[in-house]
Amino acid sequence: MSRVYADVNAVRGKSWYEYNKFRIEWSSPDRYEIVRRLGGGKYSEVFEGVDTVNSERIVIKVLKPVAGHKIKREIKVLRNLAGAPNCIALLDVVRDPSRLYHSLVTEFVDNSDWSSLHSRLTDPDIRHYMFQLLSALDFVHSHGIMHRDIKPANVMIDHQRRELRVIDWGLAEFYHPGVDYHTRVGSRQYKSPELLVGYKRYDYSLDLWSTGCMFAAMIFRKQHFFRGSDNEDQLLKIMRVLGTEKFDAYLRAYSIPFESDLEDLLGNYPPRPWTRFVTPENQHLATPDALALVDRLLRFDPRERPTAAEAMAGTYFGTVRVEGGRKEGEALSDSGFASM
Ligand code: AMP
Repeated sequence: MSRVYADVNAVRGKSWYEYNKFRIEWSSPDRYEIVRRLGGGKYSEVFEGVDTVNSERIVIKVLKPVAGHKIKREIKVLRNLAGAPNCIALLDVVRDPSRLYHSLVTEFVDNSDWSSLHSRLTDPDIRHYMFQLLSALDFVHSHGIMHRDIKPANVMIDHQRRELRVIDWGLAEFYHPGVDYHTRVGSRQYKSPELLVGYKRYDYSLDLWSTGCMFAAMIFRKQHFFRGSDNEDQLLKIMRVLGTEKFDAYLRAYSIPFESDLEDLLGNYPPRPWTRFVTPENQHLATPDALALVDRLLRFDPRERPTAAEAMAGTYFGTVRVEGGRKEGEALSDSGFASM
């Protein structure tokens, strides 16, 4: 069971988390015009558009008919998160007259592409954006929701305005203790160990693993930190860094039956100290407090990872908290994670 926010949905009640039961009032798409295609995948096509009533730039995410019940879940999550810090705002939901295509209209972010951005970020930039990402996660987790697909493509950064927004809530799910969830979520390079070994009783802490992967990529100046070619290789890449002994201890602690010839292939790998990844090119980013934070986020055992709030209270974010108008130390809890 999650260490925190385990009963949030039980307390808030069914009207908060039952997404199949609510009625959606669809608007007409006439108000919006498409400007250009931004991207797309299995479930959606995403376009930049304009709201002809107020001339604002918007994003239109057209959900493909295959999206099925996921549509209601995504809308419910986005509505519940209205006003959440650093989360994309849902502006409207529209349906075309044939009722075949349903679209979400959200605010637009003038995103800087990750492949060019990650190698340009300064130390203060990384602290600033990580704090924003963790603020978003602390809010959504404290409201009973796991995002389940945190990765650079879903974290929009407007570098000019220094603003970050988490997008794509299509895989987000309400957390209930003791429920088995699908492990086929997330994107390979950001999948937590629990997903890779098929452990279904995961919780919010899977988002902290993905955040740790993004953080490691930023401080070590790599496009992706763990870069597996398939799920098994992904686990192998993680074991080579965290060590096989810790992996075995994790499987034992959770009684996870894991059969694979991976370990025969792999042999016995000791944990690699984080300092081994420090190079002359990244040493100004991979500072001791950054290494301490990455070490806490990238743990096999989900309960050893800090919550978003605990991570935000650590020393790594001291200057960001001060800039944000809070007194240094104010957010510190007695969580034991204060030295991150
Ligand atoms: P998605 O299918 O939601 O991951 O969106 C596909 C792509 O569209 C993303 O990787 C972004 O490049 C872009 N995109 C989605 N939402 C926004 C947004 N609100 N603002 C700017 N670009 C977006």
